[in-house]
Amino acid sequence: MADKPNMSLEKNKMPSQAPDVRNKNFLEVALGYTEEQAIDEAKRCLNCPKKPCVGGCPVSIDIPAFIAKVKEGQFEEAYQIISKSSSLPAVCGRVCPQESQCEQRCVRGIKGEPVAIGRLERFVADWHNANVKENPVKPESNGHKVAIIGSGPSGLACAGDLAKKGYDVTIYEALHLAGGVLVYGIPEFRLPKSIVQKEIDGLKALGVKIETNVVVGKTISIDELKDEFGYEAVFIGSGAGLPRFMNIPGENLNGVYSANEFLTRINLMKAYKEDAHTPIKHPEKAVVVGGGNVAMDAARCAKRLGADVTIVYRRTKTELPARAEEVEHAEEEGIKFAFLHNPVEVIGNDGWVSAVKCQVMELSEPDESGRRKPVPIEGKFETIEADCMIMSIGTSPNPLIKSTTEGLDTQSWGGIIADEATGLTSREGVYAGGDAVTGAATVILAMGAGKNAAAAIDEYISNK
Ligand code: FAD
Ligand code: SF4
Ligand code: SF4
Repeated sequence: MADKPNMSLEKNKMPSQAPDVRNKNFLEVALGYTEEQAIDEAKRCLNCPKKPCVGGCPVSIDIPAFIAKVKEGQFEEAYQIISKSSSLPAVCGRVCPQESQCEQRCVRGIKGEPVAIGRLERFVADWHNANVKENPVKPESNGHKVAIIGSGPSGLACAGDLAKKGYDVTIYEALHLAGGVLVYGIPEFRLPKSIVQKEIDGLKALGVKIETNVVVGKTISIDELKDEFGYEAVFIGSGAGLPRFMNIPGENLNGVYSANEFLTRINLMKAYKEDAHTPIKHPEKAVVVGGGNVAMDAARCAKRLGADVTIVYRRTKTELPARAEEVEHAEEEGIKFAFLHNPVEVIGNDGWVSAVKCQVMELSEPDESGRRKPVPIEGKFETIEADCMIMSIGTSPNPLIKSTTEGLDTQSWGGIIADEATGLTSREGVYAGGDAVTGAATVILAMGAGKNAAAAIDEYISNK
């Protein structure tokens, strides 16, 4: 019967490239559901009247409603429901940490696996992109100008919502390509760049202008944008791209990269291609330091360059902050882990990295908070051979905008202080959101912050 629920305890499996094939190419790993698989998965949804899953989605997508449309094969209707709340469904369906958000609240997860909400969202967005060739209609101008700093998910979402309301929006982007972390950080094999480009093309069709190679704070200041260029409001979505280092001896040797630099060279400059303008040394043995998603991405990229890769992490597998799926993918692709290891020195040879000396650690007894801290085992060290070391121990917002904008309040660690609901900063008419405010977080949170700020900017300008 068509409306009989599918009571399988497992999600429909995601068709994927085999591990020993994909670890040698940069093509997308997950291939996406077929229509039959999507409908079958949609039938696992019980259409719960209280919609607990919606409470786990930072932008409150009406999940049961869109899944009900998938169940009926009405994919475009499903897309319309999602796009009421999300501007980037093809992106979020791929990279959202669903297991700790919408899927974590799904009742099917109590006994068995939750409904594959993210995979269904991806299916619907891809179906729309492949089958609906509509040209967005440029809205009539309302005569008001807004500037956006940064073209990551927060800036793109803010720009899109304002452009739909008729604002004259210009995005200023420091890099030569728009998209923020979606193009320079997250690798092609997890998020094809053509998907991001499609979103950007859609914004341009709405009339959004994008000025690349403009570093706000150097090329132009926020005061100039407001006073000389006539922007009535500014949204800062400049992210948190300043890498942290460990400050250990040898960190300045050739072959030591921040994960941001390594990933930017590969994703943005396509350094893995023979004819790339910005080549990268193909490492033989790479050590990646850190345990988050960025570390997994850097390690999987190094693997695809042909390296033997070891991730060095000072705690154990249980404490790894990366998504379980990313860790599993990394392991399947042949990446090794050195748990309870903490680098203390980068050893060099002729100016280049040749090995990484690590202090061996153990976990202490739990403290009052119940947390077990990694502590060194006295006198126990191990050395891992490496000709490349990639530091992936976190990032913070770049201080440039703060240092060139009078009266813009920030936290001690550099995050811009902004109202949670509206994004309003300590400067009138200046709003902020995404990683620049929260520190490194997620695409969906950045997108949500951009949308909230767009609504607040509209209200501010309308009431002026
Ligand atoms: P960003 O995406 O960082 O964009 C900021 C933009 O502003 C950049 O393009 C930058 O060049 C530009 N900019 C900065 N300063 C200036 C200036 N002065 N003038 C002009 N332009 C400027 N999140 C997930 O949800 N899932 C994932 O799987 C995931 N994986 C990740 C993997 C990596 C390698 C990284 C680094 C992050 C990952 N994240 C992931 C986090 C997510 O990408 C970010 O939280 C999100 O992109 C933040 O969006 P944003 O708009 O705040 O900033
Ligand atoms: Fe889940 Fe993310 Fe989609 Fe929200 S946007 S429904 S959290 S996958
Ligand atoms: Fe469907 Fe799960 Fe949401 Fe219930 S909680 S409506 S089963 S997705």
